[in-house]
Amino acid sequence: MFNVETIRQDFPILSRKVNGKPLVYFDNAATSQTPQQVIDVIVDYYSNYNANIHRGVHTLSQEATDLYEAARHKIQAHFNAKHAHEIIFTSGTTHGINLVANGFSSFLKKDDEVIVSALEHHSNIVPWQMLCERTGAILKVIPMNEDGELILSEFDALLSKNTKLVFVNHVSNALGTINPIEYIIKKSHEVGAAVLIDGAQSTPHIVPDVQALDADFYVTSAHKICGPTGVGMLYGKEAWLKKLPPYQGGGEMIDEVTFEKTTYADLPHKFEAGTPNICGGIAFGAAIDYMNNVGFENISVYETELLTYATEKLLEIEGLKIYGTSDKKTSVISFNIEDIHPYDVGTILDKLGIAVRTGHHCAQPIMDFYKIPGTIRASFSFYNTKAEIDALVEGVKKAKMMLS
Ligand code: PMP
Repeated sequence: MFNVETIRQDFPILSRKVNGKPLVYFDNAATSQTPQQVIDVIVDYYSNYNANIHRGVHTLSQEATDLYEAARHKIQAHFNAKHAHEIIFTSGTTHGINLVANGFSSFLKKDDEVIVSALEHHSNIVPWQMLCERTGAILKVIPMNEDGELILSEFDALLSKNTKLVFVNHVSNALGTINPIEYIIKKSHEVGAAVLIDGAQSTPHIVPDVQALDADFYVTSAHKICGPTGVGMLYGKEAWLKKLPPYQGGGEMIDEVTFEKTTYADLPHKFEAGTPNICGGIAFGAAIDYMNNVGFENISVYETELLTYATEKLLEIEGLKIYGTSDKKTSVISFNIEDIHPYDVGTILDKLGIAVRTGHHCAQPIMDFYKIPGTIRASFSFYNTKAEIDALVEGVKKAKMMLS
């Protein structure tokens, strides 16, 4: 049975105070909080079996290697990848995207086309711009509508035999829109293009089945789903990962090295040069266990309840406008009040112990679309409560009064 008060006891940070007020943490889309179960795994690693992996015969190294590889298997099972070696540990979503963009530099030629969406995070725009600069390929953009949804008829019109790659996020970090990736993947494959899905914002809310989706690549970061920062995963279909060249050279990723020629290790090690974030990888696995224990079905039902409640309460405030009004969205509300600068509202909310994100959310093209400098973004997680939403609403009213 889902009980938010019991769940909150797992998160030590939720009982701290900020500026003398109980912390209300609504910046979950930037990073999620860490439950004691995951903190314990991190402490256990450094207390009991901290060692380098894949190379030691000693007990500590073997224990660390076993648990690191067990985490890879947990991630494989969670995302339903066919093989464990299709899961590459990365430092996060940004690293995974850059790894793929770098690999495709070898395949793309002048006038090939790469499609991204208007709803992307900068980390899913800039690497592709750099790729296009290097190769002469052309970057095209799927436009969005006022509700913050992608315009699919325009996407259809962009597709052609020149399209080689399509990149979209599963869920927009700035607005929370859930994109129709099933459709995008199917249509892209019809013209022979590969698809990378940025799952940084979907994985805290949805369990993606990469085989059912038929995604070529799927990336995410552990810190979005109750794990630590600095670790994430890239799923790639085996055939693509075999084809792509390595991203970085170094230890761990080689088979044999001479000064004349180096041969590379098999998957997944080909893409895992150097000592990885061992503790982070193991804690990523523990975070997935934790989330599955809470249950994604429970999470989805509860977060939808929070989203509906918060949307209704916030819209009662005169002059408040919500950006991203699709009926397919996760528990994110991006809003502004009249022409008050979002930063000023965020600063007052912080004085009240309420953490929200203000600014362009690394998605400047979305802000340009709405012709605004930024928004106030409140993003809710399964450990938040309606009482916290009430505190937010009161805080926003107070900020409006002070700043109008
Ligand atoms: N894509 C999206 C949609 C995101 O929300 C984020 C994180 N804000 C990223 C990519 C980048 O993730 P990271 O900073 O963990 O690499």
